[in-house]
Amino acid sequence: MSLKAISRAVLDGRAPSDSEIRYLIDLEPDRLPELLGHAHRIREARFGNAVGLCAIINAKSGTCSEDCAFCAQSGHHRANSPAHPLLDAGTIAEAAARAGEAGASRFGIVASGKLVGGCDLDGFERGVRAVAAAGLIPDLSPGILDRVQLARLKAAGLRGYHHNLETSATHFPKMCTTHAYAEDVDAVRAGLDAGLYVCSGGIFGIGETWDDRVELALLLGELGVPSVPINFLTPIPGTPLEDRAPLSPEEALRIVALYRFLLPDRQLRVCGGRPTVFGAARKAELLGAGASGLMIGDYLTTRGTDAASDLDDIRRAGQVPAKE
Ligand code: SF4
Repeated sequence: MSLKAISRAVLDGRAPSDSEIRYLIDLEPDRLPELLGHAHRIREARFGNAVGLCAIINAKSGTCSEDCAFCAQSGHHRANSPAHPLLDAGTIAEAAARAGEAGASRFGIVASGKLVGGCDLDGFERGVRAVAAAGLIPDLSPGILDRVQLARLKAAGLRGYHHNLETSATHFPKMCTTHAYAEDVDAVRAGLDAGLYVCSGGIFGIGETWDDRVELALLLGELGVPSVPINFLTPIPGTPLEDRAPLSPEEALRIVALYRFLLPDRQLRVCGGRPTVFGAARKAELLGAGASGLMIGDYLTTRGTDAASDLDDIRRAGQVPAKE
């Protein structure tokens, strides 16, 4: 078994076997650059030199009924995060226009909470139309919606439905006790059934093992989501994970590379936690590690990096912003 042979097999369309996945995970630390190089070539085979750029707005923040241990917006924790109802369409439109000027092609309206009934569908519809009018692709992260609600929003112009699984089914009960993992998986299936571009991924550095990381990637692959956000924990005071150390850049790069081997044709977007883990000095390394997309601007409750410097990184790496 060799790294080159596994990489060749992936490029030829064969999924890595269990023993090959173990080989990738156990690769000696001094071979990290080699691993990243192969992951980058797999990314180039599918995405060329294009980097998908998206941005979000924290459109409805805080007081969430759920108790996700990593999240500042949970009403169960004592984090000092903003709390406000759904923003009006004008505010969303202005933010979308700014994101477009900064280089984003997709713009996500993110609302805290696990909703099924009683959500502000009219407000979401207005927001979706406002993003489209600003010239960006409208995405929505509304919590859990049913198929009828998703169809209505799609008819209003919604293109992408975002719903993270966050971690493996095995690790999830240690992170969230207020709803079942199966509800999140059903939500992802509903988005796919509605014909929406589904963006679903996870957050890493929350105490999960490498087996959990593999379990999540394989499930996302099986579900058929086209876009996988990769977030890294930023430990936030007042949350149960406040004392957890952030991942090292090396471990985070290895996660991105592993996901590229396991999900060779999916858009891998590095999102929250990028500044925490990589800082300004090392963030460009992601562009050679298998990632094919970046979230630019600020995240939900933490600051992002300057979008202009991300665009500089992209240019210097010989890459270009993707159209979608
Ligand atoms: S991750 Fe989502 S569902 Fe969980 S507490 Fe935060 S806002 Fe609520």
